[in-house]
Amino acid sequence: MDLKVFITTSESICSECGEELGRHAWITLVEGKGALCLTCADLDHLTFLPSGNAALTRRAGKYSTLSAVILQWSRARKRYERQGLLVEEPALQRAEQECLADEEIRARRREREAERRVELDQEYVMRFAARVRELFPNCPAGREQVIAEHACQKYSGRVGRSAGAKNLVRKEGSVEKRVAKCRMKLIKC
Ligand SMILES: [Zn+2]
Repeated sequence: MDLKVFITTSESICSECGEELGRHAWITLVEGKGALCLTCADLDHLTFLPSGNAALTRRAGKYSTLSAVILQWSRARKRYERQGLLVEEPALQRAEQECLADEEIRARRREREAERRVELDQEYVMRFAARVRELFPNCPAGREQVIAEHACQKYSGRVGRSAGAKNLVRKEGSVEKRVAKCRMKLIKC
């Protein structure tokens, strides 16, 4: 079971060392002894980790051989609310490193996905351009690329990005329609 440390609301005195702890002191309740300050409870070497980062809290708690939950009475909600965790410093450092490593892994994954999307986008445009060349063999050199980019961009807001652009390449007939429209516009300007 987790040790509990309470942030007091009233004046309190450590029942072991007799120190006046004042209000808002951090105490732990020990059966038969009453309120103890963290020094007397042998918890003063622990580091406070405020609530808010669930993954970090979970890991720090897991690696800490000794930990305590910090609780404060909420007058508004009429219940004790968790403020954070007291953990051993090395456990916190290990947890922080792991969370950082995770964040790095996620960032690298996002980068790779973005690169892959760009490659796919280019692939769609290329396939679209090839189809344009097939359908309009007499179209001036390079024009098929312009038409393809224009068509894919128009469809998705970004080149080749949407499922719409994929379908354009996949569906028979839709490339032709799309190209005919774009071609008209491009020829005009
Ligand atoms: Zn004490």
